[in-house]
Amino acid sequence: MVLHWFRRDLRLEDNASLSRAMSDGSPVQGVFIFDRAILERLEDHTDARVTFIYKELERLDQEIKGQGGSGLWVVHGDPLAWHEKWANDPMISALYANRDYEPYAGKRDTAVHALYQNAGKRSVWSKDHVLMEPHEVLKDDATPYLVFTPYSRKWKSLFELTQLDSYSTPEKGWNSVPSPYRWPSLKDLGFEPSPLIAPDRHIPLETIRQYAQKRNFPGQDGGTSKLGVHLRFGTISIRALARAAKSEHETFLNELIWRDFYQMILKYFPECPNKAIRPAYDKIHWEINELHFQSWCTGQTGYPMVDAGMRELNTTGFMHNRVRMVVASFLTKHLLLDWRWGEAYFASKLLDFDLASNVGGWQWASGSGCDAAPYFRIFNPESQLDKFDKQLKYVKKWVPEYGTGSYVPPIVEHKWARERALQRYKEGLASVSS
Ligand SMILES: Cc1cc2nc3c(=O)[nH]c(=O)nc-3n(C[C@H](O)[C@H](O)[C@H](O)COP(=O)(O)OP(=O)(O)OC[C@H]3O[C@@H](n4cnc5c(N)ncnc54)[C@H](O)[C@@H]3O)c2cc1C
Repeated sequence: MVLHWFRRDLRLEDNASLSRAMSDGSPVQGVFIFDRAILERLEDHTDARVTFIYKELERLDQEIKGQGGSGLWVVHGDPLAWHEKWANDPMISALYANRDYEPYAGKRDTAVHALYQNAGKRSVWSKDHVLMEPHEVLKDDATPYLVFTPYSRKWKSLFELTQLDSYSTPEKGWNSVPSPYRWPSLKDLGFEPSPLIAPDRHIPLETIRQYAQKRNFPGQDGGTSKLGVHLRFGTISIRALARAAKSEHETFLNELIWRDFYQMILKYFPECPNKAIRPAYDKIHWEINELHFQSWCTGQTGYPMVDAGMRELNTTGFMHNRVRMVVASFLTKHLLLDWRWGEAYFASKLLDFDLASNVGGWQWASGSGCDAAPYFRIFNPESQLDKFDKQLKYVKKWVPEYGTGSYVPPIVEHKWARERALQRYKEGLASVSS
């Protein structure tokens, strides 16, 4: 028997590693490990991501049983301890998994690989989570890109359509011996079901077709795909989505290239979750203002687009990309609060939270990351509202009291805050060059 370890690829169809495991010749057993170290870091016991994963595992289990297998093994604990046990099990001859580019995962997978190697067994790792892996798109001198546009140009010059071919989906080949493990319940894991509803697991072709016209308007229904969570956990294949983008509208493909770009950045700058990608930006003197931070978190800043975004996030676990840019710019420029505060808050709330894209998005907004524009691009929340939600459709949905006497006044004045940010950034950066 061989194992396929499900991680960011919770699907049977078009799954690179699973497809390879199925052609190994031995019965395949799917496994999923709820990593205790990751779960213990989650503060909210109704965390929507855990409920999402749990439901998707139940679906996978049913699908495997429908193909004659005995179902998925789902266990809880330390991945290394579980793999040590399986690597030394004489019934198991190999491990298959898709690669994960986060620093924690990289160290874990290296250790797991060694366990199988030491036991004289194979561990086989595949590309599945991205279209182009971090090492595949580098500058001519083999160093990583820091700016998106030249990266995407190189990406497009190297990308071949064959990389979108679908991997065969299993129909049989599963291990049918009953599972020795009882699934932990959500409660055993320390969680309760979340009331949040995840977006549907299907590719919205009409949205992709009209993406270029509609993607920037947060009040527009179906303006973006809302597939972030499905790409994060691999419940939809990135290749299937890219095939849809190729046939319907290429603007959408660009978004998937951004996703590859940030995976590459995290791989080559593994300290970027804590440190500015452009080191000089770590010299900026941030404000310590808990009251302002709380007003931002709860959507009570007196800036309607910011407040609508934060309330949408708190209620649904989602926020539109345009609004993510506006609220992130507001936190780091208008309030001069450290981007790491905002990044951590998003990480705790976003259903589609992904370390690479979140850190990338936050560092982009604060100016410390991968952006060709200098730090003095400061979004004006009022003109963003005027451009992207003129009819106030989005704002009225989330901030119904806007325009009445009960709406909070602005916690900072735009012009003053803008000048303060410019001055503070300038001082911080000057302290490095002097
Ligand atoms: C401050 C900030 C934080 C962010 N945090 C995250 C995060 O934690 N997880 C996350 O997936 N995205 C993040 N993004 C990127 C982007 O906002 C979301 O991917 C997008 O809003 C998700 O909505 P959607 O699925 O409808 O996207 P669509 O517009 O339909 O795009 C399709 C897919 O392309 C990818 N994508 C789109 N834009 C980007 C982008 N700028 N960077 C990377 N990937 C992109 C996503 O996987 C997305 O689901 C962040 C952006 C900012 C500015």
